Amino acid sequence: MATRAALLHKAGPDAKFTIEDVTLDPPRGPEVRVKLAASGLCHSDEHLRYGAYDLDWSPCLGGHEGAGVIVDVGDEVTDLEVGDHVVLTFIPSCGKCPPCVSGHSNLCDMGAELFSGVSVYDGTHRFHWQGQGVGQFVQLGTFTPYTVVHQNSAVKIDKSIPLDKAALVGCGVATGFGTGSWAADTRIGDTAVVVGCGGIGMNAVQGFRVAGATTIVAVDPLDWKTELAVEKFGATHRASSMEEARGIVSDLTHNRMADRLAYTVGNGLGSDIETAFSLIGKLGIMVFTSVAEAVARDAKIDLFTLTHYQQQLRGALYGSANPRADIPKLLRLYQQGILKLDELVTQTYTLDDVNQGYTDLLDGKNIRGVILYED
Ligand SMILES: [Zn+2]
Ligand SMILES: [Zn+2]
Repeated sequence: MATRAALLHKAGPDAKFTIEDVTLDPPRGPEVRVKLAASGLCHSDEHLRYGAYDLDWSPCLGGHEGAGVIVDVGDEVTDLEVGDHVVLTFIPSCGKCPPCVSGHSNLCDMGAELFSGVSVYDGTHRFHWQGQGVGQFVQLGTFTPYTVVHQNSAVKIDKSIPLDKAALVGCGVATGFGTGSWAADTRIGDTAVVVGCGGIGMNAVQGFRVAGATTIVAVDPLDWKTELAVEKFGATHRASSMEEARGIVSDLTHNRMADRLAYTVGNGLGSDIETAFSLIGKLGIMVFTSVAEAVARDAKIDLFTLTHYQQQLRGALYGSANPRADIPKLLRLYQQGILKLDELVTQTYTLDDVNQGYTDLLDGKNIRGVILYED
């Protein structure tokens, strides 16, 4: 079929997505074709745009935070059918590999093919542009009204849930919420700090709140974001820098410092680690969720305190979520009014406005921008 798609031809600081006419093959084997209702504008596509991933395939179809309706299935699809509503997950879950069977499907071995650009089923492209194959970012590609994905990348959800909100749970919400809850092992009554209150951090605030943290300090240089974190998402205090947060956390805890910290800034910096780590106390856990440059190796940490306070620095992918189990759970929390999704959407766009969406993201105007596709 013919459709349109936002393609990236070459990554770099000045790169832009261009809207192109493309063709999309039917799903093969275990694949499904999805008519997308919406795609979130996640920071990871900005990392893709400027070249953090160092991919050697072009053109590339961006977007990985989508939800929609299945309109076609391949002949080996076993657990989905036409008409099902699905959230796409940027890590597939095969259900068989060691991480999957041990409850860590966010680390599914199928993720090894995440940046191959071609179908994991047969190693060929589904999208074509001017005779060339188009790579699909993280096996998805949601900057297009239709996409074809492996059934392991699609999680069936209840049809009563609005798809434009469900889309957000495919990446930013699960990643952020999981950072503040599952990945951080948050306990009731904990004091928590969230460094960076964008699309991930705002959900880390929610994760800490739902997991039982009673004091949550939101840290971001932009006042409107920390105000929103307090007004809508459950933060109890706010600071414009980690230095300012240090005094607040010290006062709140009688200098025992925080139990948990979520590091969720747009670009993870090794130079932030030492300061962030100084905000947690004995048995403190810091979860590092940001995407850093692939070549980044620099981080300083107080090794003496690490041992003597029994602290932990943890990396977390997808908030340590198990997408197939946790995406439906998160959507139930939304239906019960516990998880806020509507409040995350700052602005909606058409596909043609995708670059404007990223300009707004970089200008600090959005918690989440969302592309809406027409019916
Ligand atoms: Zn994302
Ligand atoms: Zn697996």
